[in-house]
Amino acid sequence: MSLIGADTFKWEDIDKRQNIMYRMPRNIKFNDNIVVREDEMAVFFRDGKALAYIDRPDRYALTSLNAPIVGKIVKFLSGVQQQAEVVYLQKRVFDGKFGSKQAYQFRDKEFGMVNLRVFGEFRYKIAAPENFVNQFVGTFNFATSAEVEDRIKEQMVILIYDSLGDMKNQGMGVADIASNLTNIEQVVLTRTKEHFDLYGITIDKLSGLYISLPEEVQKAVDTKSSMTILGANYMQYQTGQAMRDAAVNPAGGAAAAGVGVGAGIGMGWSMVGAMTQPPAGAPGAPAAQPAQVAAVPQVACPKCGTQNPANNKFCASCGAKLSVATVPCPKCKAEVPEGTKFCPECGTAMVATKKCAACGVESPATSKFCAGCGKAL
Ligand SMILES: [Zn+2]
Ligand SMILES: [Zn+2]
Ligand SMILES: [Zn+2]
Repeated sequence: MSLIGADTFKWEDIDKRQNIMYRMPRNIKFNDNIVVREDEMAVFFRDGKALAYIDRPDRYALTSLNAPIVGKIVKFLSGVQQQAEVVYLQKRVFDGKFGSKQAYQFRDKEFGMVNLRVFGEFRYKIAAPENFVNQFVGTFNFATSAEVEDRIKEQMVILIYDSLGDMKNQGMGVADIASNLTNIEQVVLTRTKEHFDLYGITIDKLSGLYISLPEEVQKAVDTKSSMTILGANYMQYQTGQAMRDAAVNPAGGAAAAGVGVGAGIGMGWSMVGAMTQPPAGAPGAPAAQPAQVAAVPQVACPKCGTQNPANNKFCASCGAKLSVATVPCPKCKAEVPEGTKFCPECGTAMVATKKCAACGVESPATSKFCAGCGKAL
């Protein structure tokens, strides 16, 4: 059999680098050779459709001799047209960043129309080479990774806007966004599965989500959230207050133990400080919780005992899998980790809230005190 005119196709390193895909500028024909390396796949493509792909590293001769391995491709190439295009794809994960070009208008019940901008990072890889090529080369006629990535970024921003919209409909306000970023990331990541399947892409990580508010709204939100933090510490604050009262009262407390009034006040404050930051290595002391995370539900790691936020899947200290208690979503019945505020499947609010009559701040229905002003609910 004559191999005159046969070409060898491979993805040159100079074309590879940061490119997730490379569309060969020439057509392949029967008898050509295709080199596929460890970290890549070769997809054969004709008439707007992926024909077949090879994802095992080797040098493949597209002849009938090799038909048992590349039979499907050889069959296509020995037909009337006798040629096809090759698109090379990388198997590894890629990192992308997104940022919204246009602001999202969020109608907030407290702040009115607020322009939001979203930024973040994601990690993606090709999960289904045929879908990927059909979508990006077949449908959009893309040839470069930059075009592919732009498309993914646009879609990510749309997914985030959709998720924010749904969570807003379930009662999330602009003031809740900052404290729910991890939760929003979960909601969006869950949605990427269904959405990007079509593209043959898996988004396996979404991180660093940042949603920016106009300056004046941010200021108002900051003021409000500092009140919320004070509210979360209200019991602690009251305890400190009681100690100070005891110290001032000569009939009891520190004064009775022979400590002066001034020293007593000092002690009261240092005890408040001690509760905020327990002395390191105190035997039998409960694990320290920074004041700001006290309001987030915690679960103890079954292996090392470290307290982790309830929606962590793995222990932040030893990496053990956390068996997190789940509750069914009231709407879609998905099992959602206890303490999660919004269902990652459908965005429904998981925690019933009640509104403070005095200041209007929403607190979880189980709270005894308002997170905004500390009043008994
Ligand atoms: Zn652990
Ligand atoms: Zn749900
Ligand atoms: Zn209140």
